[in-house]
Amino acid sequence: MGYQQEIERRKTFAIISHPDAGKTTLTEKLLLFGGAIQTAGAVKSNKIKKHATSDFMEIEKQRGISVATSVMTFEYNGFLINLLDTPGHKDFAEDTYRTLTAVDSVVLVVDSVNGVEEQTRRLMEVCRMRDTPVIVFINKMDRDGKNRFDLLEEIEKELNIALHPMTWPINSGKDFKGVYNLAEKNLLLFTAGTKADDEDAIHLNDLGDEFIDMKIGERDANQLREDVELIEAVHGNLNVSEYLAGKVAPVFFGSAVNNFGVQEMLNTFIQIAPTPKQRETSTGAVSPNDDKFSGFVFKIHANLDPRHRDRIAFLRVCSGKFERNKYYHHVRLDKDIRFSNPYSFLARSKDVIEDAYPGDVVGLFDTGNFKIGDTLTEGDNFYFLGIPTFSPEIFKELVNKDPMKAKQLEKGIQQLTDEGVAQLFTQFGGTKKIIGCVGDLQFEVIQYRLLQEYGASVEFRPLPFYKACWLTSKDSKKLEDFLRFKQQNTAEDKDGQPVYLAQSEWFLNTEITNNPDITFHFTSEVH
Ligand code: GDP
Repeated sequence: MGYQQEIERRKTFAIISHPDAGKTTLTEKLLLFGGAIQTAGAVKSNKIKKHATSDFMEIEKQRGISVATSVMTFEYNGFLINLLDTPGHKDFAEDTYRTLTAVDSVVLVVDSVNGVEEQTRRLMEVCRMRDTPVIVFINKMDRDGKNRFDLLEEIEKELNIALHPMTWPINSGKDFKGVYNLAEKNLLLFTAGTKADDEDAIHLNDLGDEFIDMKIGERDANQLREDVELIEAVHGNLNVSEYLAGKVAPVFFGSAVNNFGVQEMLNTFIQIAPTPKQRETSTGAVSPNDDKFSGFVFKIHANLDPRHRDRIAFLRVCSGKFERNKYYHHVRLDKDIRFSNPYSFLARSKDVIEDAYPGDVVGLFDTGNFKIGDTLTEGDNFYFLGIPTFSPEIFKELVNKDPMKAKQLEKGIQQLTDEGVAQLFTQFGGTKKIIGCVGDLQFEVIQYRLLQEYGASVEFRPLPFYKACWLTSKDSKKLEDFLRFKQQNTAEDKDGQPVYLAQSEWFLNTEITNNPDITFHFTSEVH
């Protein structure tokens, strides 16, 4: 197969959802269609259970699952699909945000009973920043859900995206009878507990056909006719370029656990989901068609077990062909490195691979060379843009309990922040170290890892901040003055960028108003 064909058959995406909406279940059904697994139940949830917050073996077990399922590659109808997993636990949301920079599209799972939930909202915000194309799967139609029109309106409003129904449900809960495929004009009938397959799809030339009344009853048939007429009048045909621009999201209704409506979505996905896209770098866009290899690291996974202190850096290939044992240029370190055992993630087992193409994710053994956002090239000196850091939500002062281990602590915290486990800020004019995380679970992981891996014993002292904003200004004097006057609330991030640590929204808004010459940024690029 030629290079061009390899690119054109690749689709790299992630499934995102609020926990419990059905991401794991949907993943499993997709893998079954792709033949990557043979039995249901083979995909373990990467959820970290609430009660396990202080049980680190449990966390490690869960993290072990999460590395095994980090990337799942399967083939379907000649396409090669890379499904990137995202941690479900909200404390590890940053990991998810970064993974979203490595995909070309997403499937959003919404629970038909709960509608739009907190994590749905946040994840979609991240997708909107990059205009990532979205397909929506409304799950659990076998349960008594919200009215379908209300649900669509809620999603459109809350997530600020136009929706385009591709299938339309007939009732929900106990009365759920199936979906009508608007494009294919066929009816897929639902029987709980049995798998829907092609034979269940009834092709209809005309919705007026009385056969439908026989199948689903006159009342539901009439309702369906009415609904379809309304939807067709409002939506017409899906505009694929609007989908690709992240403006319109096709919507499917189904029930993942019953494998119902999933294949409809998959069939549309392979037709319309984007192949690897071009990406912005510090010296202009890089296209997947460029001959020279380039890629970036979006995730680093370290083994918590001190006996196996290996790290895996996950590299998204953006252009050219990645080859085993070839020297590549590590732009930040300005050194050339080769990889003798790069992993691929075909069928969930880790296999050494010879080469990889744009859209693929390669696992690289790392001994501490990489940090999140690093770029590898075939000699060029550019780096990829658009790998953001988001403001943490919980801030704590890092207190060293063992002064003899100051060096180890320094090294440990450096490495953990390189991995993206937490963000480190150093107070201006002082040495106070502030750790910022999204969730409390992360602090426990840091404390545990510093002790286990670096012998450094630390404590955390809560700080009253709620958000970090990165500061820039054309007027360097004004910025300097601000940093000096607000010493209690300013710090440097790991790369020396100034940040303002706000106590509350009110303080933040006041500072923004009082300092028109300073720009407050809510995210920062890794570089
Ligand atoms: P995740 O947290 O998003 O990965 O959610 P899971 O896939 O683990 O699903 C959460 C729960 O919802 C599990 O108990 C699933 O069996 C259940 N579930 C998934 N899909 C459906 C569905 O279509 N209908 C119903 N009734 N339950 C479902």
